[in-house]
Amino acid sequence: MSNREDAMIINSLVRQALTSAQEVMGDNGLNAVLRTSGLERFISNLPPNNLEPSIQASQYARLNQAIEDFYGRAGKGMLRRIGKASFQYAVREQAALLGVAGVALKLLPEKQRIKFILNGMVDALKKSNPQVDARLDDGGDKLAYIESTCAICHSRHSETPICYLYVGSISEAVQWATGKEHQVVETHCLAKGDLYCRFEVGATRE
Ligand SMILES: [Zn+2]
Repeated sequence: MSNREDAMIINSLVRQALTSAQEVMGDNGLNAVLRTSGLERFISNLPPNNLEPSIQASQYARLNQAIEDFYGRAGKGMLRRIGKASFQYAVREQAALLGVAGVALKLLPEKQRIKFILNGMVDALKKSNPQVDARLDDGGDKLAYIESTCAICHSRHSETPICYLYVGSISEAVQWATGKEHQVVETHCLAKGDLYCRFEVGATRE
């Protein structure tokens, strides 16, 4: 929304997003959306893996919009796949940051496993940008992940929630932690005027 601060996103997070998009969309797909979202400087030139500021949240939001537009009806599914790839990237490349290096969750109950990985995501995001306002909501009967600084929907308006990439990352995280696919639903979204984006972890998918 217009009064939200347009925070900077660091290189390593943009690299993670673009690498994941490249895996899912291929070079041509990625290059096309980089062009339409004004990020052509990253064509064949991914940002380095460091903590320097890279792009603004509003530009990251434009990239998400461009991917959705590029694929039309398939856009939401593509963004979810990119989100899943992005969590896998974090496990592979940023295990220490995510707090998953050498961790065994097998002995924990399922709810504790989900809490563990969602807290890991919150902490990793806060470490990479202290301005991030994210937390785990475990007050109700369902666990949920909340962020009031979500970059995906920055400056965007919609009647329905639109942070599909985030839904993908969280569902992949829950699957990583539990070994089962759970439904993840975005119940609130800044783009529709809510105070935060909220992703609720639901029942196991059969
Ligand atoms: Zn959002």
